[in-house]
Amino acid sequence: MDSEQLREYGHRMVDFIADYYKTIESFPVLSQVQPGYLHNLLPDSAPDHPETVEQVLDDVKTKILPGVTHWQSPNFFAYYPSNSSVAGFLGEMLSAGLGIVGFSWVTSPAATELEMIVLDWLAKLLNLPEQFLSKGNGGGVIQGSASEAVLVVMIAARDKVLRSVGKNSLGKLVVYSSEQTHSALQKACQIAGIHPENCRVLKADSSTNYAMRPELLQEAVSRDLEAGLIPFFLCGNVGTTSSTAVDPLGALGKIAKSNDMWFHVDAAYAGSACICPEYRQYIDGVETTDSFNMNAHKWFLTNFDCSLLWVKDQYALTEALSTNPEFLKNKASQADLVVDYKDWQIPLGRRFRSLKLWMVLRLYGAETLKNYIRNHIKLAKDLEQLVSQDPNFEVITPRIFALVCFRMVPTDDNDEKKCNRRNLELLEAVNSSGKLFISHTALSGKIVLRCAIGAPLTEEKHVKETWKVIQEKASYLLPK
Ligand code: PLP
Repeated sequence: MDSEQLREYGHRMVDFIADYYKTIESFPVLSQVQPGYLHNLLPDSAPDHPETVEQVLDDVKTKILPGVTHWQSPNFFAYYPSNSSVAGFLGEMLSAGLGIVGFSWVTSPAATELEMIVLDWLAKLLNLPEQFLSKGNGGGVIQGSASEAVLVVMIAARDKVLRSVGKNSLGKLVVYSSEQTHSALQKACQIAGIHPENCRVLKADSSTNYAMRPELLQEAVSRDLEAGLIPFFLCGNVGTTSSTAVDPLGALGKIAKSNDMWFHVDAAYAGSACICPEYRQYIDGVETTDSFNMNAHKWFLTNFDCSLLWVKDQYALTEALSTNPEFLKNKASQADLVVDYKDWQIPLGRRFRSLKLWMVLRLYGAETLKNYIRNHIKLAKDLEQLVSQDPNFEVITPRIFALVCFRMVPTDDNDEKKCNRRNLELLEAVNSSGKLFISHTALSGKIVLRCAIGAPLTEEKHVKETWKVIQEKASYLLPK
């Protein structure tokens, strides 16, 4: 590591990135390249001798950026946001600079302890129950993704129940979720060895915005118990991917508790909003859960990856995931004086990710973060109003946070298939314009367009312009 080279190249890289942000609106939001485009532009093998940073940055400009979809563009409205920010960026930089691997406390005490402190800070901002704080049996940990979070808690829950019913009962364990739960749960079931026939995917309530129905859960659990199966894991949602549905946590939690099930809540997207007192109601009932997850890398100005997981019983995790090889033994761990986060996750190695979250919380402060969320929700409310005023469109589910779900309405013939095709054509037309990027989903067989407002640079003018583009593209698709 040559410090002077780092200083020189580092400044140049920061300039490059700052210029990128300045000009980000000049790029097509969704990359317009064809599959395999890069193979034709780069050599077949690595260079034998060093090249200059200028050469590399030139290639970034001419060869890489065309193949980049600009997630930080103010006109990026697809999926859910994945925020970058100055504070998050600085934290990432510091983490890369320190270059530590904090799997055990001893490998960098500050990494473990800062993570515990920052997750406690955030738990307090969310007003999570005391049991999720690090002072007792509970605590928080940074995972790479919501998918990893649900996998590790499912493994913890699986092993906990198998310890009492015996390992041979794995084939009897049953998982419950709504049909709107993210596919990350299905992947977790596959990895955790849950029999595919034992994954209950319950119909969501299409009369609201597709929340889970506790009575269906109760019925399914009773049926499974009668059949001699073992209900062991329930995944609830606060802010589903398709429509930001919020499941009734309190009612679900009661059922989970009375059947000794682990209750996990996926609030990957909407958890961030719940730091605002007026949105905290959406996690009411969280006291009945065993684990709670939100992605700070979605809507909380913290660069990817930073998925926050809190558990009430850290020992359930560590009993399932601990290993203790000779080459990692050390006094602090042996004396059980410290947390070793390697035992709360799948990989051994882990980056110093708490630095960026700490930076975000310190450089912006909770009030700024609350107002940041509120502003996106207000912009989404404005868009929802614009959509509902246009007779060619309809809002499909009531907006709760900053996602607007809408579509072009069927024409006179009321042909839903034709309507779906038209909405997909609209999606294609809008996204291939390069002016904005939205995504889609399906709800009750209807193709629905999703506009998720949440990029840090998005302002009112971007939302207004986006709506104009959508209306204009739609006008070409309307029957003449
Ligand atoms: N849960 C919800 C509600 C999501 O919207 C997403 C992704 O958008 C995920 C889970 C999966 O997130 P990750 O990529 O962190 O695994």
